[in-house]
Amino acid sequence: MNFVILDLEWNGAYSKKSHKFVNEIIEFGAVKVDEQFNILDSFSMLISPQIGKKLNSRVAQLTHITTEELMDSHNTFTHVLSKFRKFLGDSVLLTWGTSDILTLMENCKYYLGEEKLSFMTTYCNLQSYCEYMLGHNDKSRQMGLSTCAEQIGVSSEGLELHRAFDDAMFSLLCFKELFDFSKIKEFIEVANDEFYRKITFKNTVLYDVRNPLIDKKEFYICCDKCGKKARKKSKWVVKNRSFRAQFKCNKCRREFEGRITFRLKYEGVTVDRRVVEKNSSASKEKTKCVFSILKKQNSNSEK
Ligand SMILES: [Zn+2]
Repeated sequence: MNFVILDLEWNGAYSKKSHKFVNEIIEFGAVKVDEQFNILDSFSMLISPQIGKKLNSRVAQLTHITTEELMDSHNTFTHVLSKFRKFLGDSVLLTWGTSDILTLMENCKYYLGEEKLSFMTTYCNLQSYCEYMLGHNDKSRQMGLSTCAEQIGVSSEGLELHRAFDDAMFSLLCFKELFDFSKIKEFIEVANDEFYRKITFKNTVLYDVRNPLIDKKEFYICCDKCGKKARKKSKWVVKNRSFRAQFKCNKCRREFEGRITFRLKYEGVTVDRRVVEKNSSASKEKTKCVFSILKKQNSNSEK
């Protein structure tokens, strides 16, 4: 089994054709390795943009790529993609997080009218794999590549980060450090219909208490010190899309804020509970009382 780690750079450009912004890919960088991490081949190509002729300043600053360089490459997306297709072959495609593969899909749709990456047979989200290997359990916060590298002592020395090929190399170094053949198998997905449904699923935060997907039984908070259920001292309010209320742990004699976030994911609804020390983030943002909505809903159902 061979692995291809891919990284892309793109530029946000407004398309007059489709009347929307497109993340136009301007650079492909990839490296191919075998199971022993021998480098078999590498891939690095720039693309002359066709939608946004000028790089936006943030991208130019981050990548140090110039518009002239891109224009001088005389490569179209379609040309680079066909080269990459051959490069990939039947290897497993890996990207750090899903944004690169989603952007690749977006460009394939724009230029070729194809919804799926017909040339890809198997895919692995390297970020999910590394998070798993490092026991990163906070599903609401994704781990960045630099954070991962820091944790495992992988240095980016000599690499020019935010350029596609070097970012792919940096991802490879982390992958190599955390490689476990029996574990990686569980993260390799076959690119079938279900895979595309899952990868394009838009996760949403549910914060309307009337939403039937929100289970009222989930509205509780346990003390983070002793684990006992805490006593609610205030009404639930919605703030920054999470439900919040004041709590007291009778055993530990401490008061804190409890926060609950419901997320609708492809796999179902996840419930995230947090305990926030009092006065740790006193903010004056507008709050919306949900208790009244709950009551109203109850009175409606009694009718
Ligand atoms: Zn306690």
